Amino acid sequence: MAMMPHLPAYLHPNRQQLLVWCKYCDRYHRHRAPITGAPRIAHCPTNGDSPYCRTGYKLDDAGPASPDMVRAADRQEIKPEGRLW
Ligand SMILES: [Zn+2]
Repeated sequence: MAMMPHLPAYLHPNRQQLLVWCKYCDRYHRHRAPITGAPRIAHCPTNGDSPYCRTGYKLDDAGPASPDMVRAADRQEIKPEGRLW
């Protein structure tokens, strides 16, 4: 059984969303704030090969997102996999 990964989560200035960098998708995933101890379902495309799809992940508070991160995340297409969050 794979260990559940922990990923740093950065609070978007809208304070509703957390930005989590996904090294498999090479993009930010968005999750609802606030951070809880509960595992999150990975927002990787389900037809991809991301191991996060199998395990999900937990979020570690990494503080506020930097302006560069917010710009990069807001430039992304919203949801290649068809989900808002
Ligand atoms: Zn992903």
